Amino acid sequence: MICVLSGGTGGAKFVDGLRQVMPAEEITLVVNTGDDLLWWGLYVSPDIDSITYVLSGMLSRERGWGVKGDTFLCLQAMGQLGEPTWFHTGDRDLAMHLLRSRLLAEGKTLLEATAVISQKLGVKARVLPMSNSRVETRVDTPIGELSFEEYFVQRWYQDPVKSVRFAGASDAEPAPGVIDAITNADAVLIAPSNPVTSIGPILAVPGIHDALLHTRGKVAAISPIVGNAPVAGPAGILMEAHGLPCSIAGVAHAYEDFLDVLICDTRDSRAAEVLRQTGLRVQCTQTIMRSAEDKAALAREALSLVAPSLEPASDTSFRRLDRQP
Ligand code: GDP
Repeated sequence: MICVLSGGTGGAKFVDGLRQVMPAEEITLVVNTGDDLLWWGLYVSPDIDSITYVLSGMLSRERGWGVKGDTFLCLQAMGQLGEPTWFHTGDRDLAMHLLRSRLLAEGKTLLEATAVISQKLGVKARVLPMSNSRVETRVDTPIGELSFEEYFVQRWYQDPVKSVRFAGASDAEPAPGVIDAITNADAVLIAPSNPVTSIGPILAVPGIHDALLHTRGKVAAISPIVGNAPVAGPAGILMEAHGLPCSIAGVAHAYEDFLDVLICDTRDSRAAEVLRQTGLRVQCTQTIMRSAEDKAALAREALSLVAPSLEPASDTSFRRLDRQP
């Protein structure tokens, strides 16, 4: 079993590769829920949605979020009614939010609701929210504290960031199965996700950091930072606000307590050489995922470093095991 800690965009791209090179049934995902929001009264969990969509073959790879081929008629109609429209939910995407919200209103936990939806969409991997409790990523800016989606989507991450906190984390518990999935994994992979606002909230849930210290498998992280800049998004700004340099050294520092291998891009080979002097194992490879082949190659490389026994002998594609609606 492989356990993957993930956010939404970079995480989904990496998971898209992983599902090509190993059976989805052997993957457990622990997914960030710090970005969750109530939108038009519906409970939206952006990172769980992206991971569920990629695993069910529904993700729009062009956008990197939402359902491929979706339409936005409801969004348009809500705009006509004077409702906010900055968070773009497609019409098919709304079905996910409606069903999850109903399941939660009926008393199901987020974990249970996620399992019901996964099952209905034919997802074979196990998708676990990091916690059933509400943990909210809050970004402090000169105009006040914003939720992550307000900072990122509504305001295009233009505001200077003073600090980031995870409200509710200290009282949260990991969702059932999370600690076991990490502790008993053959390997733990930290997706190329934002270390502060995607992996940070997961690590802030009491017990998860400890599980990573004690897992029997090796822990590898793929750097979302290439050549001292994030591949996309505000990771650099947020890392600096968190006291971490925007570099592979900053990524290594964020995970230093439990990291066995850092996988970084060949463009960072000089920085990798410096980092190796600290005793960390650093592997350079092509980490920019544009095509399905790039994603599969990166996933294969990550597996070969931490779980060679799980590495497929040939180019076997396991993608067909997943239902493609
Ligand atoms: P979010 O929840 O949407 O913020 O998604 P993630 O945290 O999972 O992903 C965002 C991170 O993915 C950003 O910091 C990007 O730098 C990183 N990222 C996106 N595409 C790639 C890629 O092709 N390669 C690598 N190495 N990182 C990527």
